[in-house]
Amino acid sequence: MKKIADLDVEGKKVLVRCDFNVPLKGAAVQDDTRIVEALPTIKALLERRAAVILMSHLGRPDGKAVPEYSLRPVSERLSQLLGREVKFAEDTIGDSAKKLASGLKPGEILLLENLRFNPGEEGNDPGFARSLASMGELFVQDAFGTVHRKHASMVGVPGILPSAAGLLLQKEIEYLSKGLNPERPLLVCLGGAKLETKIPIIENMLEKADTILIGGGMAYTLLKSQGKKVGRSIVDENNISTAENILKKAREKSVDLQLPSDHIATDDFKDPKKIEQTGDDEIPGDLIGVDIAAKTVDKYIKSIMKAKTIVLNGPMGVFEKDEFASGTRRILEAVIESTRKGASSIVGGGDTVSAIENLGFSKDGFSHVSTGGGASLKFLEGKALPGIKVLG
Ligand code: AMP
Repeated sequence: MKKIADLDVEGKKVLVRCDFNVPLKGAAVQDDTRIVEALPTIKALLERRAAVILMSHLGRPDGKAVPEYSLRPVSERLSQLLGREVKFAEDTIGDSAKKLASGLKPGEILLLENLRFNPGEEGNDPGFARSLASMGELFVQDAFGTVHRKHASMVGVPGILPSAAGLLLQKEIEYLSKGLNPERPLLVCLGGAKLETKIPIIENMLEKADTILIGGGMAYTLLKSQGKKVGRSIVDENNISTAENILKKAREKSVDLQLPSDHIATDDFKDPKKIEQTGDDEIPGDLIGVDIAAKTVDKYIKSIMKAKTIVLNGPMGVFEKDEFASGTRRILEAVIESTRKGASSIVGGGDTVSAIENLGFSKDGFSHVSTGGGASLKFLEGKALPGIKVLG
């Protein structure tokens, strides 16, 4: 894969695909993490005297110009962060974009309007890709959060222009690769609501991991497949036999796949009147399992402290509610402690990142917190990602 350092960018117009899909509050950027993460590539290009044309999507405007999804607030925030002007085109491939792009000088920056205002972006339309490509001479891919999407700016443009990976994309690949080629023992800790979305990563990790810890709602489908009582906990009825197969394969491959041995259970996870800690791995009556409890936490922490590489994806419980956040909090603390003692920790998944932030942890405690939820999951499933493959 070509890297940004391999391109001769001086005096050239460089199109850069970023992931500026940031949450907005009215016309202001609510969380600028993704903009900050894009700065190293932008600065490197400016230092090397490139004319930088940035493009991104924001939200799901479905191929129409929807003012609330305009990237203008991003151009303003970016301009503040860089301390210099960021020109803004009112369209993506229209007159405004073309005029501003053709007049752009080395050391200047232009941001195009939301790519998804045009149906050609998500439709991977070759004509749309050609129009984008015509505005630049080189292409840099830095939108890690979107690399699993076969969209025009992700695969079409790099099919036309000489292209390379930006610094954020390189960093993501470098760290996530450690999850696929790990220093052992490799421990994978998975949680979240649904088993279904995590089946491919479990299957890939059954080939690679020494230990797999399961928490969150997905644990109940696995427990139910063992014939355990799970009350009214979330169960993916369509995947009971897949769950059985997962457990069988783990035994065959001697992967230490651990399930919760006790739970925090409630009558109603939105408005709980009753909260109980179970004595074993079954949920009594018609209660709902919402967090892992003390025995499970202790058992999981022991494994985490022995691991040299840790992949963490998904919360251990309904962390959004304080009463059910303890399992997630204690597992995050253990991963931070293990990282401090020399393990590599790789965290992915939008909800895991929200848990880190909402529970007051710093991302600095982990070796790598991925900027792409879906993309990091796909990467760890071992899939070739279209936006990366095209750079090879
Ligand atoms: P996911 O997007 O699949 O990673 O799921 C994240 C969501 O899983 C979070 O919003 C959690 O509240 C939710 N979650 C975690 N544990 C449970 C559980 N035991 N029952 C229902 N939802 C859960």
